[in-house]
Amino acid sequence: MITRRMLGPVVLLVALLLPAAVAVAQGPVDVVATITAEDVMQHVRALSVAIGARPMGGEAESRAAEYIAAAFRDWGYAVEVQSFEVAPPGDEEASAEPVTSRNVIAVKPGGEGMVVVGAHVDSVTAGTGAGDNASGVAAMLAAAEVLQDVEPVHTLVFVAFGAEEGGSPSGASVYVDSLGDEIANVVAMINVDSVGVGTGLNVYAGAKITWPEAEDAAPEIEGGPVWVRDLALELAAGLGLPFGTSPDDTWGGFTGDWSDHYAFVLQDVPVAYFEAWQWEDAADPWWGQETAEGDVMHTAGDVYENVVPQKVENAAELLAALTLALVTGDGVPE
Ligand SMILES: [Zn+2]
Repeated sequence: MITRRMLGPVVLLVALLLPAAVAVAQGPVDVVATITAEDVMQHVRALSVAIGARPMGGEAESRAAEYIAAAFRDWGYAVEVQSFEVAPPGDEEASAEPVTSRNVIAVKPGGEGMVVVGAHVDSVTAGTGAGDNASGVAAMLAAAEVLQDVEPVHTLVFVAFGAEEGGSPSGASVYVDSLGDEIANVVAMINVDSVGVGTGLNVYAGAKITWPEAEDAAPEIEGGPVWVRDLALELAAGLGLPFGTSPDDTWGGFTGDWSDHYAFVLQDVPVAYFEAWQWEDAADPWWGQETAEGDVMHTAGDVYENVVPQKVENAAELLAALTLALVTGDGVPE
């Protein structure tokens, strides 16, 4: 459980005398003081050490989904498991047999508007998917725990996606398809993918992009709404959390099409994407690199010991602050 020791004597007294929802409704949630490194690292451990690598369709991905669903239920969210068939990645001639994956969807009902926070559960088989993406799921779970007593104006939805690592269809696209016309009610989507290993924490805006025919040419960035990213960066500055974004000479504050957010971008949903990454001194300035030594994700080095607790903690803190500002409607433009 998250310790609430820093909330101060007045809030604590109110919390003792009244239902928790009232205490939260009476004052802002101090997310930085409330979320600790241990809160997030217990989830990274559960997913990447106790369970281990979580390839799509396997038993480990299923056990991870059960762990996440149980946590959401403990905190009072309504949980739905959305199963789907997916073709895992593999060379085309192998015609991989479809496997069953699932999204774990946790809901706290508010109004018609929806704020969706997502992180993928599955991993590749190299390493144990500690940074990619037990770290993102851990940040999402810590945010869900700290926001459990919030009374949202917009419906709050957390989704632990299956089958992100090259699955067809991905869990995110299955979820977006399942919304049908309701996708128009999604006020904002926040994707948390790999926030534990890279050199610096970043928030990007989502953009529709086109890859060129020529392999070494730059992608064409059509762009998209930037207010969710800008709200996140404003909140980070106010909270003293060290977040940047992608460099002006390449992505210019946007990101590409390689994770769960893109299914939402294609439906014109405003998106923010949290990632730990290094943009300076990279051989390919469009790719960047994860750390000074190179990329860790999708290698044998993506293990618990290489996750930096403070990065996941800070990601969880900003995620909680941003989600709170969005579900209360305070941070949403008219
Ligand atoms: Zn990932």
